[in-house]
Amino acid sequence: MTPTPRPQIDLLVRNQHHFFNTRETLGYESRKNSLERLRTAIKTHEGAIHSALKKDLGKPEFEAYGTETGICIHDITQTLKHLKKWMRPKRVPTSILVQPGKSRILYTPLGVNLIIAPYNYPFQLAMAPLTAAIAAGNTVVLKPSEMTPNTSNIICKIIGDTFDPGLVAAVPGEVEQTTALLAQKFDHIFFTGSTRVGTIVMQAAAQNLTPVTLELGGKSPCIVHHDANLDIAVKRIVRGKFINAGQTCVAPDYLLVHKSIKKAFLKKLTQRILDCFGKDARTSPDYGRIVNHDHLKRIMALIDPAKVIVGGKAHENERFIAPTVMDNVTLDDTVMKEEIFGPVLPIIEYENLEDIYRTVQALPHHPLACYIFSGNKTFQDTLTSTIRFGGGCINNSLMHLANPHLPFGGVGQSGIGAYHGFSGFECFSHKKAILKSDTWIDLPLFYPPYKNKLSFLRKIMG
Ligand code: NAD
Repeated sequence: MTPTPRPQIDLLVRNQHHFFNTRETLGYESRKNSLERLRTAIKTHEGAIHSALKKDLGKPEFEAYGTETGICIHDITQTLKHLKKWMRPKRVPTSILVQPGKSRILYTPLGVNLIIAPYNYPFQLAMAPLTAAIAAGNTVVLKPSEMTPNTSNIICKIIGDTFDPGLVAAVPGEVEQTTALLAQKFDHIFFTGSTRVGTIVMQAAAQNLTPVTLELGGKSPCIVHHDANLDIAVKRIVRGKFINAGQTCVAPDYLLVHKSIKKAFLKKLTQRILDCFGKDARTSPDYGRIVNHDHLKRIMALIDPAKVIVGGKAHENERFIAPTVMDNVTLDDTVMKEEIFGPVLPIIEYENLEDIYRTVQALPHHPLACYIFSGNKTFQDTLTSTIRFGGGCINNSLMHLANPHLPFGGVGQSGIGAYHGFSGFECFSHKKAILKSDTWIDLPLFYPPYKNKLSFLRKIMG
């Protein structure tokens, strides 16, 4: 798809501000109607979306449905189910200072939103924030990732066929188009991508004091304690790490494994990888591909062949990297210097809690996720409450993001803000505070002259 020229971008954003001011997006019926049309369009184009994802990332159909189209359809259905309730003003108590009266919070749309999507789940990570934005009554300019051109094309087609561009418009393009978009005045920018580009987005947003939601990345630790159920642990870790060939923002980036069970764990881990993808994962129908050659080279440069105990090989023409495990890794290894975002799993050994803290705290960013495999509640609670991370699981990996009742987002440099379910609706809403004061009585306390009133004020405020 040809990149959108700059003057067209200016016009598009201006039109969206006009459209928003028509107040057409505000009512329940119009939001419902837009969400239903989006759901129908996804269902209608499901085959084309899956084949685009196959071309861009070699996604198996199960993953394409489970993590891209199916999850979006489910998200829209759940949103429609709860939308009326979410839109209702929330009654809150009214303090004695402002009696008599009633207080409530109105959820009102932020206005014109820019959503910028990454390449790894290029459909879901464009559609999930779009769903939340429409539900909250907004208009949206959507910028899909140029790194997955086939998926980007089908997204642009779906949006173009389904919506008035005043309500939702997709702008294909690269850095130039995104830079032009970022120069516009939006009411909110929702960005999913790297911490590096997140910084660029936040700087651009600051020029207009535009609020941002940043869904970023980082090195998410996964801790396997000596009392973990190892059979379950290897199943859930292998799925979490190697789905989408490791290109998942919340994938376990590296493992911290207790010294006493490391040998047994590695044996089970190796066997599990074999069970899932066979001797040669290249021939497995259930294993994806790296998005492009630059990323393939970047990931391969993180591997130290001397530390590889599983995999380690690539096939450049096919953009394939084998599921890879590296043992005896330390913080000095290249693989621990950046977010891996590929199918490479480093193993670091630990003996006690302090070893875990030393590793996690030595890394510069608070991780997006953290996973703890252990049967011991004290150990689980200690780690979940003392390590700073966005969200995570106990005895699982990745799956916290599949529960829309949990807010999904990072902390510190892994992100600002959160979405999914009601949190998504909140993310694209302004919480407008309204106090409705009664008029049947008008207490003289807060009006001048103040003579003889201060002691009473002290009593009610004290
Ligand atoms: P990226 O930051 O390179 O690109 C994301 C988007 O930003 C793309 O649409 C791209 O066109 C745009 N972009 C790139 N360079 C830009 C620039 N200089 N100025 C303006 N816009 C620019 O990220 P990616 O490589 O597509 O995705 C991988 C990263 O995203 C990883 O770090 C991963 O952890 C993170 N991620 C986070 C989440 C989450 O939900 N927190 C989800 C998926 C991916």
